[in-house]
Amino acid sequence: MYGGYPMMGLFDPTFLLVIAGLVITGLASSYVNRTFKKYDQLKSRNGVTGTQAAQYILQNQGINDVGVQQIAGDLTDNYNSGNKLLSLSEATAQSTSVAAIGVAAHECGHAVQDAKHYIPLKLRAAIVPVANIGSTVSLPLILIGVFVGWNQTLINLGIFAFSLALLFQLVTLPVEFDASRRALSILREGNMLDQDELAAARKVLIAAALTYVAAALSTFLQLLRLVLLFGGNRRDD
Ligand SMILES: [Zn+2]
Repeated sequence: MYGGYPMMGLFDPTFLLVIAGLVITGLASSYVNRTFKKYDQLKSRNGVTGTQAAQYILQNQGINDVGVQQIAGDLTDNYNSGNKLLSLSEATAQSTSVAAIGVAAHECGHAVQDAKHYIPLKLRAAIVPVANIGSTVSLPLILIGVFVGWNQTLINLGIFAFSLALLFQLVTLPVEFDASRRALSILREGNMLDQDELAAARKVLIAAALTYVAAALSTFLQLLRLVLLFGGNRRDD
């Protein structure tokens, strides 16, 4: 039906964009794992665990409605503003390393954002359901648009739906950078880490932030590919 259709060819050059995205996210993910492992060897002089650091910071910041729990997995640490739970992975929760304390403080940074009604955090929470629907319906819309004889309206709707996933990842960036900035200043002002330990914690948090940049970049490359393949021009082969 669409004999010269580029997506069907083995040598679709836009597929290189997808490969580039996979390489970028793979590199970022291995970098954060390496950096965390490296600074997990560096035990903090104050000797508190990630869990203790989180509990201390929350109390210190006057946040009394957030629970701290331990969850399974590697670097699965997160803060959920819906149920006010700060979850730390085993490696973070039980370790006394500067890496663990840095990550725990970063999650506390999100709890502080929540307590202070930080706008980008609210915006991100509002975008989540929209972005989820967008990434679910995007490819089906594009494929239906192609197979009903290239319906550009359906195809454009699919591309727009995909762009909502990118929007979510872009809004995530200031939220993550801000949480790390708050974490480092809390650790410094509370004298929880010494100067050299703070520098190490900063490296871990920068590595973690890079994974979000990589994810956004990879999604952008996928969106670019969709636009190049399907955007605006009807192919009558
Ligand atoms: Zn975060």
